[in-house]
This record gives sequence, C-alpha cells and structure tokens, in this order.
Amino acid sequence: MILTETCMHAAKCEKAKELVTGGIAPIDLVSEVNSYGLASIVLAKCLGCNQAFKFDTSPRLKSGNFDVNIRAVWGTLVTGNGLSHLNELLDVLDSPGLSRRSFLDIKLKINDWWNKYLQADLDRAIG
Ligand SMILES: [Zn+2]
Repeated sequence: MILTETCMHAAKCEKAKELVTGGIAPIDLVSEVNSYGLASIVLAKCLGCNQAFKFDTSPRLKSGNFDVNIRAVWGTLVTGNGLSHLNELLDVLDSPGLSRRSFLDIKLKINDWWNKYLQADLDRAIG
C-alpha cells in the first residue's frame, strides 16, 4: 500500500528525518495528477530527497473502475435516480461528477453483475 510505503520512506530517509527534527513534515501532497469522477490520482513527494509517490484515492477494482465511482452509481440506481441527480448532488458538495460515458459504463457492469447473481440464484432454486 502506498501510504505504508510513504510512511516507511519518511522513517528511513535521512533527509526526511532532518526535516522532522526541524519540525517540518517531510511528505507533501504535491498535486492531483488526474481525476476520474470521484477518484483522484494524487502525487506526494518527500521534501528531503524529492522521491515521488503516486497513489489513488480509491481502490481500482478488477472491472477497471474505481470503487468510489461504482458505489456512487450503485447508490444512484438503487434510489431510483440517474446521472443528472448524482451530478447535481455532487456539484452541491463541490465534488467533481461522473461523465455520461463513465456512468453508463458502470451502469452496464452493475446490470451485468445483478443479472449473473439473479441467474445463479434462479439456477439454485430450480436445480
Ligand atoms: Zn526522502
């Protein structure tokens, strides 16, 4: 995990240790490299030796989508809403929204998961 890696670096890096001794936090969040809906890729840097650490703010699942985005679409669908409602809510929260393409991609995957689950459940009930 990148947080562990970053912490371990700060504990071992001699230049980072010098900064800590002087009361300066050795790791700084430098920038957001990219954002994908509610997930971001963030760059942190050791202020001692300039080593960079890039990490995702949400786990990326086997489907290729970020967990937080799937949860957002899932929650939107089960409450009977759609992309406009989700993005309006996220806008009020001052958060980036999902593109129509991402929302539909995730919606199709969720539909597929539900279909597979229901089919397996039906197969068990019949068999
Ligand atoms: Zn360092």
